Amino acid sequence: MADGNRTAVVTGGSRGIGREVALRLASLGYDIAIVYVGDPAEAADTVSECEKKNVKAKAYICNVASFEETKNTIAEIVKDFGSNIAALVNNAGITRDGLIAMMKEEDWDSVISVNLKGAFNMIRHLSRLFIKNKGGRIVNISSVSGLMGNAGQINYSASKAGIVGLTKSTARELAAKNVTCNAVAPGFIRTDMTKNITEDNSELLRTIPLGRMGEAGDVADAVVFLLSSPYITGEVLRVDGGIAM
Ligand code: NAP
Repeated sequence: MADGNRTAVVTGGSRGIGREVALRLASLGYDIAIVYVGDPAEAADTVSECEKKNVKAKAYICNVASFEETKNTIAEIVKDFGSNIAALVNNAGITRDGLIAMMKEEDWDSVISVNLKGAFNMIRHLSRLFIKNKGGRIVNISSVSGLMGNAGQINYSASKAGIVGLTKSTARELAAKNVTCNAVAPGFIRTDMTKNITEDNSELLRTIPLGRMGEAGDVADAVVFLLSSPYITGEVLRVDGGIAM
């Protein structure tokens, strides 16, 4: 298929922060390929909202933790959209919180596999195309939990700290190929992931200098900014209301 518009691939694009990123990028004229794992209705809704912005959009069911599935999905995306893939946003993520003394091995493994290996898989399979295209932009979603640590989240904070190392090494390795790689570290953002935190009952919210949770759009603004810059790479941009300053 002939190359059309530039394309952005957004993992976890069906809901929450990823959906907002997909919609923003569609508004900017990117064709959108979203990757999700379990909720076809939400994915279809995001695709249809992107299409209303007069761009091509398609959802791909794919577990980002799987090396093979991500390889095949990227091949499908290139077949459907052409090779003009300009941006990758590694946003898919999960939590399986628990105290270290009680954490199940499977909860450690699944969080590291989805959050950290998932980003590796996507970059691994797209990097050759970015190199061939002589350019590309990658934004990985980390977390303040990865910068500061968080009791009850050793698996999640380890995965998100890993994203920082992955981001900086990718940035150094691919800089000569005109590929930038940055990370965004959100604080508490109102999505399904944080639905158990409310602004009246959580002690945690008192730790936010700006005094409120963030919205998915606050994170999407930072992602769009980093994707737009040709001269920022290896950066970790906090979007956290001041928590980790
Ligand atoms: P969310 O509302 O729970 O959405 C998660 C998204 O990831 C969904 O689209 C989900 O797809 C997808 N996903 C989950 N596991 C996947 C897998 N194995 N393969 C492919 N897709 C998968 O989460 P969110 O709050 O928007 O979070 C987005 C990112 O921001 C995550 O990396 C999260 O760690 C990070 N973050 C969030 C916050 C926050 O306060 N919300 C703070 C810091 C960092 P389905 O719809 O198919 O399940």
